[in-house]
Amino acid sequence: MRTPLVAGNWKLNKNVPESCRLVTDMLPGLQSLPGVDIVLCPPFTSLMVVSILLEGTGIYLGAQNMYWEKEGAYTGEISPLMLKDLCQFVILGHSERRKYFNEADQDVNQKVKSALGHNLTPIICVGETLEENEAGRATEVIIRQIKAGLADVILSDRNQLVIAYEPVWAIGTGRAATADGVELIIRNVIRPVTAGILGESIAQAMRVLYGGSVNAGNAAEFFQKPEVDGALVGGASLKVEDFVRIAQFASQK
Ligand code: PEP
Repeated sequence: MRTPLVAGNWKLNKNVPESCRLVTDMLPGLQSLPGVDIVLCPPFTSLMVVSILLEGTGIYLGAQNMYWEKEGAYTGEISPLMLKDLCQFVILGHSERRKYFNEADQDVNQKVKSALGHNLTPIICVGETLEENEAGRATEVIIRQIKAGLADVILSDRNQLVIAYEPVWAIGTGRAATADGVELIIRNVIRPVTAGILGESIAQAMRVLYGGSVNAGNAAEFFQKPEVDGALVGGASLKVEDFVRIAQFASQK
């Protein structure tokens, strides 16, 4: 039995007052929802204020990225020590990080190990580009990203893992993948490959999300699929009614 999880990735949006407003507007709709874990991932600058607003609500806080080193001469980076008392989750390996900031699978792996070592739950993003998809290489790419991302990972009892399947061609395009296609990828690729690395019980307990143009109109269809444990939501997580509606659908799963 996996509790559904809905995470909102605000990306490069919302300053501090705007973040306060968004959270305050969403809280009444999100707070009372049973049977779903909700994670808000604002930009770094808003983490502190959002953490205060979320106190006692049961809603989790996540960062959108993290560097693997704990401290030192790494100008501009944010470390797990800075996040661990503030956040419970951290998005790692998002395709926008891979594309615009040249994050390689090995970088993602270092970050995953560092996050787990500091009791942060990584939401590891995997997914193929349009070009890879059209070349019939989706499965190969996902397998490579999972194997590299989870290399030498050892989970303790306190650790959790979340994988988000986010086909790059579906992110921010309004062109979501099909629920049937996502179900197959999770059942035939993501869980078996994870099981091969971390064991069957971890692969079955791990939540696997879908991400890519999820909105209030299509979320329910994804959540009806047994293997889809929730969603990583970008654009729609900035719209109060849409995000609340998505979370409501997940709560009914
Ligand atoms: C994302 O940023 O992870 C994402 C899925 O974005 P969107 O929902 O806007 O496609």
